[in-house]
Amino acid sequence: MKSLWNDAEAARCRTELELRVYSSRLLGRDSSLVLHGGGNTSVKLRECSLLGEEEDILHVKGSGWDLETIEAPGFAPVRMAHLAKLARLEALSDPQMMNELATHVTHAGAPAPSVEAILHAILPYKYVDHTHADALLAITNTPEGERHARAIFGKDTVLIPYVMPGFDLARLCARRFAAEANAGTIGMVLMNHGIFSFGSTARESYERMIGLVARAEEYLAKHGAWELPPARADGISPAQRLELAGLRREISACAGFPVVLSTHSQPKYLSFARRNDVAALSQQGPATPDHVLRTKRVPMLGRDVGAYAAAYKEYFSRHAPSAREPKTLLDPAPRVVLDAGFGLGCAGRTAKDAKIVHDIYSHTIDVILRATALGGYRALPEKDIFDVEYWDLEQAKLKKAGAPPVFTGEVALVTGAASGIGKACVEALLKRGAAVVGLDLDPKIEDVYKRADFLGLRCDVTVESDVVSSLETAVRAFGGLDMLILNAGVFPGGRRIDSLGSGEWQRVMQVNVDANLALLRECHPLLKLAPRGGRVVVIGSKNVPAPGPGAAAYSASKAALTQLARVAALEWGRDAIRVNTIHPNAVFDTGIWTEEVLAERARHYGLTVESYRTNNVLGVEVDSRDVAELAAEMCGPIFAKTTGAQVPVDGGNDRVI
Ligand code: ZN
Repeated sequence: MKSLWNDAEAARCRTELELRVYSSRLLGRDSSLVLHGGGNTSVKLRECSLLGEEEDILHVKGSGWDLETIEAPGFAPVRMAHLAKLARLEALSDPQMMNELATHVTHAGAPAPSVEAILHAILPYKYVDHTHADALLAITNTPEGERHARAIFGKDTVLIPYVMPGFDLARLCARRFAAEANAGTIGMVLMNHGIFSFGSTARESYERMIGLVARAEEYLAKHGAWELPPARADGISPAQRLELAGLRREISACAGFPVVLSTHSQPKYLSFARRNDVAALSQQGPATPDHVLRTKRVPMLGRDVGAYAAAYKEYFSRHAPSAREPKTLLDPAPRVVLDAGFGLGCAGRTAKDAKIVHDIYSHTIDVILRATALGGYRALPEKDIFDVEYWDLEQAKLKKAGAPPVFTGEVALVTGAASGIGKACVEALLKRGAAVVGLDLDPKIEDVYKRADFLGLRCDVTVESDVVSSLETAVRAFGGLDMLILNAGVFPGGRRIDSLGSGEWQRVMQVNVDANLALLRECHPLLKLAPRGGRVVVIGSKNVPAPGPGAAAYSASKAALTQLARVAALEWGRDAIRVNTIHPNAVFDTGIWTEEVLAERARHYGLTVESYRTNNVLGVEVDSRDVAELAAEMCGPIFAKTTGAQVPVDGGNDRVI
């Protein structure tokens, strides 16, 4: 654990709130301190209101903000005077507390203050930092956790037994702090939860956090519990895509919506999943209650989704309280899978959620292994975990959540995805919530987007082994395949039949027809496992219904491809796979249409560039986005009962009409 404080960076902060942002981000940068929205920080400032009155304001992290990327508006400004009064109440329910916090901010539109706001308020220090540091969790999730914590920190911190976050925790901390704190107190350790540090400057509070966590890490090292056991990975099967897609289908059915399932077979995960004691270690519960909302209480061991769901429902009925306080059962599907065959599986409503599950569980494994080395991992009793998972505040959030984008949890694959229509299809699908795999010959595909829900793979679709390995990689990343957009194709320059060489003919057929046959064949078993049915969209061409002179190979190849798609529609209907074709024309915002080529073609027809672009019945320009939007819609509910169709996107062509 090292301090990341940098005087030059800190000197750029003009206000104390900016310093608060700066040191919060330093904490956020270290994933062994906080992960994805975990942890929170605050600063108390004396401010002057519009009416010239001075008042103390607590700027505390707002919900929905992440410490790694927080900005000044991410801190909710709450009136200290009111917080102090609340802290003196005997009892306050969580919904009441959230109402009081939200109605005592000084800025309309401020985010909801953290549920730990009152706790920050009662600590008599200007800056307060709170993390769920791995090292602390490894130490406090052991049978002797309290003894270890006392041995490490002595009287430098106040030790707080586990209480669920919220008003009761704030009250307990206030009492313990008043009774036990001394002049040298620099922090507070919350058993099975995390750690607080505080100070009079941003730097002091931050450095104390780093110092306290470093002491915990050194203690683990001294007790042979810091270095993780060596990890090995052998005997992993190279082709698992059908098994994984089958597992994703089952998890999706159990959840009631399609999920993204990412799998991770690095030695760390395989070794953990293959330990003899994996059941004892993994079935205890999360390292901090904060994680249960992402990971569920425990991972699924192996692949029996039905048994997992039954056990989850049992856990719910064991703890779900009386009719006075009804709780809504969450979907009983697992989020973490530990499997000796593939290692770690992470399921989420979106690719980003699956990534968060992965990050959390990766740290959880470290915590479990270190706690085990220190004397045994022991998580909180399951009732405490349940209370967080089924917290009123979380249940209320569920009721408020609107419908997600139409393709949330689904996976699409687009060929020729680095530019033109293919790239526009990627964007149209991402916009609708899908995770997208883009294939392209151009290596720039790998860096087209840096986001959790996009995977760019360099792939020559005419090489079958390339296609197969791309599908394997795609399924390991996202769990399966729901939509396939066959877009990659070549359009050679005009050549009349009397001079068309067989080589050129074959090359066009190879890319536009043969490659698509292989893609369809290899994708079929995956599409068949799509939770909501598979969908294929083929990008054909106006040249199918209305071929042009000089384009024999292109027109014939697109006609063959269209016929292939029609047969696929016939053959795959019973597998709930729909196959439709789009015939675009004169889409000029693609790689092949440079300004020069466009000017040359316009001259050829005796037209200006402008009238050449809009030379159709409607007199409109057609661009990649028009084609892509239709392709995406064809995968959606509007076309749910359409297969084998061919739809033009060409502004109306008098030869086609
Ligand atoms: Zn916390």
